Amino acid sequence: MPGTEFFGAEERKEVNDVLNTTALFRYNHDALRQGMWKAKELEEEVSKFTGAGYAHAVSSGSAAVACALAASGIGHGDEVIVPPFTFLATIEAVLYAGALPVFAEIDETLCLSAEGIEAAISPKTKAVLLVHMCGAAADMDSISLLCENKGIKLIEDAGQALGAFYGNKSVGLFGTAGAFSFDFFKITTAGEGGLFITNDEETYKKADTFSDHGHSHVGDNRGMEPHPYLGFNFRISELHAAVGLAQMRRIDKILGLNKKNKKYLKDRLREIDGITFRYMPDEDGDSATFLNFFLPSIELTKKAVARLAEEGVGGINYWYTNMYHFINQWDHLKNLSASAPLAIHHLGAPQDYKNLELPKSQDVVGRLISLGIRATWTAEEIEKLGDDLTRVIKEVLASHPVEK
Ligand SMILES: *Cc1c(COP(=O)(O)O)cnc(C)c1O
Repeated sequence: MPGTEFFGAEERKEVNDVLNTTALFRYNHDALRQGMWKAKELEEEVSKFTGAGYAHAVSSGSAAVACALAASGIGHGDEVIVPPFTFLATIEAVLYAGALPVFAEIDETLCLSAEGIEAAISPKTKAVLLVHMCGAAADMDSISLLCENKGIKLIEDAGQALGAFYGNKSVGLFGTAGAFSFDFFKITTAGEGGLFITNDEETYKKADTFSDHGHSHVGDNRGMEPHPYLGFNFRISELHAAVGLAQMRRIDKILGLNKKNKKYLKDRLREIDGITFRYMPDEDGDSATFLNFFLPSIELTKKAVARLAEEGVGGINYWYTNMYHFINQWDHLKNLSASAPLAIHHLGAPQDYKNLELPKSQDVVGRLISLGIRATWTAEEIEKLGDDLTRVIKEVLASHPVEK
């Protein structure tokens, strides 16, 4: 989580600007704010960095996904194709939009594959909510083409992929709308926050309006603004935006260090026979927040994860058993347990979530180890990590004849 590794005078300055003016609200109050518009500046930075025509800051990455769905016209009863490997927010956003998640297979890109999406398409499919997992892009050529050919909207949950590009184009710009998270664990953080991006002006206006009770944000009298649509409150505060702004100004530095550190560790792991790496269709566009590699079997992977924990090797994620990132642990989803009825309770689930067969996704996530890359490792720390990783994994692989 590199964003939090760099927290200093710049973040404090931006926050103090807001505290000094007391203009904690992102709209209006022009006289009070003395020229301070942190949310707007954050949006400008994200537009500049991603090349997006429009960026809109909101209260969380989850809110940004909700805005992306709403602004793309996805709602009650619409089937939305989603991956079984993602942070749960993706699925919740679909359910709370009144739409129906349809799970499809991922592959070694760690993202939905065109093949997986195609197999999950039904006459009711309205959109694919593609998640760029672990800091790098999905296979955008084949997925964009498929969505175009099938007339299905492409929406991108790039919650954990700010800084990832595919063919020099930022993730989030391949479909109608994209979402980034600025929560505490992401490459840049606002404490809590998120960004919605799009190249389409109408879509942007819908998201802007949706995120603030339907306000059109035209004119300087908030109480008298037109309200073209209903919405909700997904506003970001100026305090959070201030932190996000300072962090955004550091993103190139963070990316540079991530890439350097990831390359070192990946080169170390290349020494090991029996390991393969996450397939990245555009490796240069990787944000390098995670080093993802596969062992030959789920059994060996579990063993390696246990041994790495015993050896005190930090930063290891085994998503296969994680409660929030893989479908196997989503009992509440399988049971449709919600605090109140959702559209899916009335319409029925489009798949039998309790008996889904996703063998490819099971195999990929079961054999996957994700190491979180830090930007601030010292030379000694990263060398020791490389030593520990290679030693433990070699030992585990040697303990079993490799079968697969
Ligand atoms: C972090 C994340 C989110 C949610 O972001 P929050 O800011 O925590 O609401 C959504 N989707 C993905 C893929 C994420 O990684």
